[in-house]
Amino acid sequence: MIKTGLTEFGLEVENLQKVYKGHDGNEPVVALKNLDLQVKKGSFFGLLGPNGAGKSTLINILAGLVIKTSGIVKIRNINQDINVREFKRSIGVVPQETNFDPFLTPYESLDIQAGLYGVKKSERKIDQILKRLGLEAKSNAYMRSLSGGMRRRLLIGKALVHAPELVILDEPTAGVDIELREMLWNYMKDLNAKGTTIILTTHYLEEAEALCEKIAILNKGELIACNDTSELLAKVNLKSMNIRYSNSYLKKINLPEKAILKENKNQKLSISYNRNEIKTDQLLDCLRAQGLDIIDLSTEEADLADVFRLLTNNK
Ligand code: ADP
Ligand code: MG
Repeated sequence: MIKTGLTEFGLEVENLQKVYKGHDGNEPVVALKNLDLQVKKGSFFGLLGPNGAGKSTLINILAGLVIKTSGIVKIRNINQDINVREFKRSIGVVPQETNFDPFLTPYESLDIQAGLYGVKKSERKIDQILKRLGLEAKSNAYMRSLSGGMRRRLLIGKALVHAPELVILDEPTAGVDIELREMLWNYMKDLNAKGTTIILTTHYLEEAEALCEKIAILNKGELIACNDTSELLAKVNLKSMNIRYSNSYLKKINLPEKAILKENKNQKLSISYNRNEIKTDQLLDCLRAQGLDIIDLSTEEADLADVFRLLTNNK
């Protein structure tokens, strides 16, 4: 392998900080705290975190919609503040919010967007994009006749017209039905297979688990994990325990510290716990001591939802 001194990342964020000024006497909000993040070029990367973690702030900074307080952002060696135009041309962002001109048709909207990026007429692939997004039938319809899901898809199209090397999607499948979600996944997978770096934020953890080779978890403006997806699942050695019990009087169940109650209803209890920290026996003893009459028990490997809950719990 040829070694070069420089590693080029699909995205590199260095010491990024964002403080929103407090308005009307409100305290300022620190949305990103000296964030460092590196995304491998050509990878499919997941950015997760609870509401308010700072995901949209990060994405909107990259999109040029929010001005960072300090820090450096680069795509390969293209610095957002130095190579302004080149940076813009390298990135396509699908924002969380939808915002459209009601008097444009989807075709016109994408055509104008392509023009803004200086894509030559002969090189525009608008029909192709509309087709991939399942919008070809709506190509010449007015925006106001498009459903919410269709508008979301058009936003994706707008981010793709200039064939950027980095595509970032801020919850693209929120409220989108499963069939459509799969269509979008396939589209993103195809783009990724052709070399596009993709960063996805999502609330659907199964989506991140299925698509992303690496996942970063953001919480309160800080990175609390950044691992290969499989590593993230394995590292925490998390188990999920499902219990059925005979008595229904138990309203509130006390668990050992660090065990997490996922569900307690219809005499079924679901708990996740880290086996490095809690022994199964210890957990069962604790439950029995509270009068729980266990009639059935099973354990399973945790999924990303459990890992996510564990990492963001009480932090
Ligand atoms: P996420 O996308 O992970 O839900 P956001 O980036 O939207 O998180 O928000 C991060 C934090 O910044 C939250 O506390 C949010 O209330 C705050 N915030 C976001 N946008 C603004 C804004 N325009 N002005 C003030 N505070 C904001
Ligand atoms: Mg958001």
